[in-house]
Amino acid sequence: MIEVTNLTKQYGDHIAVNNLSFKVEKGQIYGFLGPNGAGKSTTMNIITGYLAPTDGTVTIDGKDIQKEPEAAKKLIGYLPEIPPLYTDMTVKDFLKFVAELKKVPRAERKDQVEEVMALTQITDMQNRLIKNLSKGYRQRVGIAQAILGKPEVIILDEPSVGLDPKQIIEIRDLIRKLGENHTVILSSHILSEVQEVCDHILIIAHGKLVASDTTENLSKLTDQNTVLNLTVAGEFEPAKDVLEKIAGVDSVENAGNDADGNTLIKVVSAKGVDVRDEAGFALAGARIAVRSMQVEEKSLEDIFLELTDGGEEVKKERKRLFKKKDSEDAADPKHAEDEVYVETADISENINGEGEEK
Ligand code: ADP
Ligand code: MG
Repeated sequence: MIEVTNLTKQYGDHIAVNNLSFKVEKGQIYGFLGPNGAGKSTTMNIITGYLAPTDGTVTIDGKDIQKEPEAAKKLIGYLPEIPPLYTDMTVKDFLKFVAELKKVPRAERKDQVEEVMALTQITDMQNRLIKNLSKGYRQRVGIAQAILGKPEVIILDEPSVGLDPKQIIEIRDLIRKLGENHTVILSSHILSEVQEVCDHILIIAHGKLVASDTTENLSKLTDQNTVLNLTVAGEFEPAKDVLEKIAGVDSVENAGNDADGNTLIKVVSAKGVDVRDEAGFALAGARIAVRSMQVEEKSLEDIFLELTDGGEEVKKERKRLFKKKDSEDAADPKHAEDEVYVETADISENINGEGEEK
């Protein structure tokens, strides 16, 4: 449905979108996920024909957005980051005006405006001035204008920004509903948001695609095993002997020492098997003092942070918690296994392309 090929956008020296390529299949909900400044809005503005790329192409249903802008734009409904609302108009008059701009045939205008108001649940607000609406209702008006003209693809740039929790849930439900009859792409810098509604997640950082997979597959990355990080007083060997005897424990590894000379131990068990209580009882029984105990949960959030820049922050925080010495920090063998590799042809292409900046 949408094919983005080697898209690059440069603002002066700054590369906002860097050789981005991906495909969007018909009838699914796609999440475009990335931290602020990753290049989401820039990409969406190019896909929708509001901004010209420095390089690369975008086709919508085979129509090149630059060569056939009218035909291509007709297939897309867009809610930009800052919705273009005429705040001195009433909801209904504004939507009628948009229907006219979008060349909805005169005979169908009234019905279509009513239809989109019903779908976005703003019928009760139709005679209100837009400037008197709450942010949540304004966002619905923004979505209503996007779906006028019955475009096949709906593109929403951060549709939940600035909304309260209740409004976020309402907009989420509305997006799901739109997904029943449209191809939807929505951007967000919040993982849970895209995880909730999207079938497929594209993660971008610094204008590059760093992961692209189904939400299910990305979530599976977190479904491996349970890691318990223990700090005990004394040597590794006696603690290891005790821990290995606990039912459910798969492996016990020495993870070094902290600054106070305590031993750090990594206890691995199967996914969902919590050995904390047994480990605590058994170590206490053997008169081995437990200084700290923490289950390491790798969530999709951690993976997102690792794939984008935030991973460094997470690692720093973990190091701080473990109070490791500076010399050990440099090598950091403990977290070597934290690296996440998402294997997708698209991604390796982008990773391989790194460093070839034009
Ligand atoms: P996102 O929507 O993911 O937050 P944007 O696409 O808005 O990211 O921005 C990507 C990068 O491009 C940012 O570093 C931003 O500062 C920069 N940028 C965006 N628009 C412009 C512009 N008009 N001129 C210069 N730099 C811009
Ligand atoms: Mg943005």
